[in-house]
Amino acid sequence: MATNGTLGRKLRMAIVGGGQGSFIGRVHVTAAVLDNRAALVAGALSSDPARAKASAADYDIAPSRAYGSYAEMFAAERKLPADERIDFVSIATPNHMHFPVARAAVEAGFHVICDKPMTLNVAEAEELAALVRGSNVVFAVTHNYTGYPLVRQARQMILSGELGDIQAIRATYIQGWLRSRLETEGQKQAAWRTDPTKSGAAGCFGDIGTHAYNLGRYMTGLLPDSISCNLKVFEPPRPLDDYGHAVIRYGNGALGTVTASQISHGRENDVRIEIDGTLASLEWHQENPNQLFIRKNGHPHQIYTRDPNAPYTSDPAKAACRLPSGHPEGFFEAFANVYRSTYDAMELAIAGKPFERTNTIYPNIHDGVEGMYFIQQSVASSKAGGAWLPLKHPLARQ
Ligand code: NAD
Repeated sequence: MATNGTLGRKLRMAIVGGGQGSFIGRVHVTAAVLDNRAALVAGALSSDPARAKASAADYDIAPSRAYGSYAEMFAAERKLPADERIDFVSIATPNHMHFPVARAAVEAGFHVICDKPMTLNVAEAEELAALVRGSNVVFAVTHNYTGYPLVRQARQMILSGELGDIQAIRATYIQGWLRSRLETEGQKQAAWRTDPTKSGAAGCFGDIGTHAYNLGRYMTGLLPDSISCNLKVFEPPRPLDDYGHAVIRYGNGALGTVTASQISHGRENDVRIEIDGTLASLEWHQENPNQLFIRKNGHPHQIYTRDPNAPYTSDPAKAACRLPSGHPEGFFEAFANVYRSTYDAMELAIAGKPFERTNTIYPNIHDGVEGMYFIQQSVASSKAGGAWLPLKHPLARQ
């Protein structure tokens, strides 16, 4: 079987979620196979067993490996010969099902690529982190914006000191789709996202504020110290925030802000980050992801384009490109870069070789715990009128 991996075979993938009518599962599967290093062979595609099985044909999953539930899938796959059973599982369910599925996967020894936010609360995240630490499992969290070549370029430039000392991070994620109460109109994605039992303690801040926060952490590596947050429900009686704003103090004295909205008319997926250093500032927008703006007082503004052949492109950014410059790459490719980086680790683990667990180029279990701590502390601060609360979790990447 032709493969671009190092094992001489493709990795065997399963997916939980991604059934008919769902959103991100299909993105996971498309991203997973983009580099011909994996094949989808099994799935528990829906909470409804009949729909789970009916959805399998959409992915060319054989009926014998279209399971009615994730528990059934892990039990059956464990019994298959080692050269047939799945290597890893991707989790694309609503948030409340991430932890039970991830825990069962880790306990069964399967590698995991889990969507964000990683769990429903911090206690689950810490329990999962302990399980992963005691296992040989590779665990990734799809904070997929980290996969864009120019995000990796920005990270490399900051970590190598090109921007000087980092003093300010402004990260925003602005959407408008929950301006009306779609959750009352049978829109499934809106329904679970606004239900605390399925979404978690936060709505908008958990769903997209975590992406914005993660992007600042990923690009700068700065450790947070404390947070003050105000969350709002602008479409009552929705029980969870649909807008929020947080100020973050970083350990080095830098200040950050995270603003997230789902009620801004006409806004789509405007993830945007601006970072100010003592030597230069940068700006990146995911709706124009193939450009990165660098500015220095007294110099013409610079636009870096996504160009795998340019001398200014760093190695991590080059490794994240598939096409020559000018052919736009986007959401699928960035998602696939998280997969590609995770596959490098999985292939080492499967070959019995050591692999990096903490300072990975892909978001890992530590970032997942941090995301959950960010949500918990944002909600607690907001409830306490914007009180300053600690934000540095002991498991954060150092
Ligand atoms: P969705 O409602 O469109 O799809 C969820 C799917 O999970 C459905 O097929 C549903 O039947 C299935 N499911 C629910 N419970 C299940 C169970 N017990 N077993 C098997 N399948 C089950 O949701 P979505 O918008 O695709 O979001 C899914 C997850 O992905 C969420 O955690 C969300 O936060 C995350 N997400 C991430 C991104 C990103 O850019 N990284 C984008 C969108 C969503």
